[in-house]
Amino acid sequence: MLYIGAHLSSAGGFAKMGKTALAIGANTFQCFVRNPRGSRAKAMDPVDLERLRVLMAENGFGPIVAHAPYIMNPCSKDDGIRRLAEKMMREDLALMEHLPGNYYNFHPGSHVGQGLETGSRLIADMLNRVITPEQQTVVLLETMAGKGSEIGGRFEELRQIIDQVERSEKVGICMDTCHMSDGGYDILGNLDAVLEAFDRVVGLDRLHAVHINDSMNPPGSRKDRHARIGEGTLGTETILHFLTHPALRHLPFVLETPTDDAGHGEEIALLRQLAEKA
Ligand SMILES: [Zn+2]
Repeated sequence: MLYIGAHLSSAGGFAKMGKTALAIGANTFQCFVRNPRGSRAKAMDPVDLERLRVLMAENGFGPIVAHAPYIMNPCSKDDGIRRLAEKMMREDLALMEHLPGNYYNFHPGSHVGQGLETGSRLIADMLNRVITPEQQTVVLLETMAGKGSEIGGRFEELRQIIDQVERSEKVGICMDTCHMSDGGYDILGNLDAVLEAFDRVVGLDRLHAVHINDSMNPPGSRKDRHARIGEGTLGTETILHFLTHPALRHLPFVLETPTDDAGHGEEIALLRQLAEKA
């Protein structure tokens, strides 16, 4: 079973996202669990969450991915920004316990000149404070393009964070095809070699989800601008290699391409059709 979906708007609640996912041929999805720019968590409605759980079970959904707000920077120089990041993650993870067994993905952050050592320690410190032993959500660090002082552009940087996390069994990785190519990993020419490097440095057992995006920029550009599937520098073939790779094909794949639900539905239909033939 191929689990493929898209980033959906959470405006109408959780059950509605489940229905939207079904309508566009998805059997997983990603969403923000709060306003992406705001700091206030949505009022949690247990009935709404229960409806989504039932819908997911009845329709054989794979795990879904909650995405932390982009403004979150756990390795900021500013103590207030770091505390806000911690507060948001703690609240979001509490909400996710109502949807046990899914993922919570975040961008590790930008160290803004403090360096990788300090940055990775601050990120791990936050994780050590928010992750609980009973937690049923695995927190995912996203592979980044490495623009500016962004941490997570190299697999070694992700490893360095994980090494400092006490309950590291609750921490994994979400790959992003656009970020990896922009960050200089040759997924276009040699996906196997990239996955071997990942396995050596981080371990493929830590990989739990993949963002499938084409890229507007050439490999190594460190830019991070997503393109629709087939309309960027990666091409449909590269995305298809991820979907059909024996080490990856069981994972949830999420589109974060610049289009609407209907557009995502077209991409999902195309990718399912191509993956079946591959
Ligand atoms: Zn992404």
